[in-house]
Amino acid sequence: MQSDLKTPLLASFASHASEPLLQGHGGSAIGIIGSGDFSRSLSIRLVACGFRVVVVSRDVKRVARGLFPEGVEFRSQREAEDGAERMVFVAVYPEHYDTLLGLREWLAGKVLVDVSNATSLNSREQSNAERLAELFPKSKVVKGFNVISAWALQVGAHDGNRQIPICSDCSISKAMVLQLARHLGFSPMDMGGLCVSRDIEEAPLILFPSWGGPILATFLLFLFFYGYNFLRHILLPYLDQGENNFYQLPLVTVNETLPAVALVTLALVYLPGLVAAVLQLSRGTKYKRFPLWLDCWLCRRKQLGLLSFLFTALHAVYSMCLTLRKAAGYTLLNAAYHQVKAGVENSWVEQLVWRSDLYLSCGILGFGVLSLLAITSLPSVGNALNWREFTFVQDLVMLL
Ligand code: NAP
Repeated sequence: MQSDLKTPLLASFASHASEPLLQGHGGSAIGIIGSGDFSRSLSIRLVACGFRVVVVSRDVKRVARGLFPEGVEFRSQREAEDGAERMVFVAVYPEHYDTLLGLREWLAGKVLVDVSNATSLNSREQSNAERLAELFPKSKVVKGFNVISAWALQVGAHDGNRQIPICSDCSISKAMVLQLARHLGFSPMDMGGLCVSRDIEEAPLILFPSWGGPILATFLLFLFFYGYNFLRHILLPYLDQGENNFYQLPLVTVNETLPAVALVTLALVYLPGLVAAVLQLSRGTKYKRFPLWLDCWLCRRKQLGLLSFLFTALHAVYSMCLTLRKAAGYTLLNAAYHQVKAGVENSWVEQLVWRSDLYLSCGILGFGVLSLLAITSLPSVGNALNWREFTFVQDLVMLL
C-alpha cells in the first residue's frame, strides 16, 4: 500500500516536472550582458528566486557592485568564454549589438534573450530580435521581458497580473524562457515565432490602444451636452432676462453635463449587443461576420463602461461639493431673508422633500450598481465569476 502511495498518478507529468529546463540554487548560472538598470533589476529578481547570476560587462572595474545583490559574479567580456551559462540576457541597447560580435563563439548554442524595445511605431525595419538572430546565427534568440520595466522587475509581480509576451523560432529555448518567467512570478504568454517580435517590441510604446475611440466618443458627448447646458441655462437667460449665470460654468454646468454623458455612454455599452442581435435575426444566421464598425464597437464596450463609471463618480463628487460653494451659501441667505421679509414661518414643502430624497436615493443606488459593474470588469474579479454570475450582474444593471 505504501509503495502504491509513492507512485505518482500522473507518471508522465511527474517525470517531466522532475526534469527542469532551468535550474536554480546552484545549477547553471544565468548570464546578463550589460550592467545597467535592467541588468541590476533582473539580477535582484533572479537572485531572490534562487538563481546564480553572472554579469558580463565591458569593464568590470567600473561596475557599481554595491547596487547588485550579493552572490552575483562579474566577468569582463574578454573573460566571458570561461562561463558555461545556458541562457544569456542581452541587457544592452540594440545600437550596441554590433560591439558584442566578439562574444559570438561564447554565445554559440546558448539561449539569447533580447529585452530591447522599439524606438518608433509601425517601422518596416526588421526587429531588434531578428537583427540579433542575424548577428548571432548559432545562438537561439528569444524575445521577451521587454514589456516589464526595471522597477517592476525588481519588486516582482505583486501589483497585478504582469503578463510577459515571449516569442522565438526555437521552441525548446522559448519553453526555457517561459519557465523562467513563471519562476520569477510573472505570467508569460507564448506569442509564437520571432516574426511577431516587432509587435512585442512596440507594445511598450503604444498609448492606450483600445481607448482612443471610447475617449473621443465621450469627449464629443461631453462637448455636446456642455454646449447644450450652456445655451439653455446660461446664454438664453442672459439674452432673455439679463440674468448673469456665468459663474455656474466651472461647476454647476459641468455637474449637469456629467450624468448625461454617463447615461449615454452606458447606453452605448448595451446598444451594440442589441444591434448585433437584430442583425443576426434579420440575416437569419449567426455565422456571418458583423460589419467592421459593429465589430469595433462590440470590442470597446468595456472601455465605454469604465468611462461611464468615471463620469458617474465625478458627478457624485461634484454633487457633494455643490453645497460647499460660496454661491450656495449666498443663495440660502438670500432665500432666508426673503422668507423673513415675507413673514413665512415654515418653508417645508412635503412633495419637494420626498422628490429630492427619492432622487438622491436612486442616484446612490445607480452609482452602487455601476461600481459593481466596474469591479466585476477587473480581470482578477471577473475571472473568479462563472458565466451565470457575470450575466446576473449585467442584467442587474440593465434592470436599473
Ligand atoms: P542602461 O542602464 O543604459 O545599460 C546599458 C548597458 O549596456 C550599460 O550599462 C553597459 O554595461 C552595456 N553596454 C554594452 N555595450 C555597450 C556599448 N557599446 N555602449 C554602451 N553601453 C554598452 O540601459 P538599461 O535601462 O539597462 O536597458 C538595457 C536594455 O534593456 C535596452 O535594450 C532597453 O530597451 C531594455 N529595457 C530596459 C528597461 C528599463 O526599465 N530600464 C525595461 C525594458 C527593457 P557595461 O558597461 O557593463 O558593458
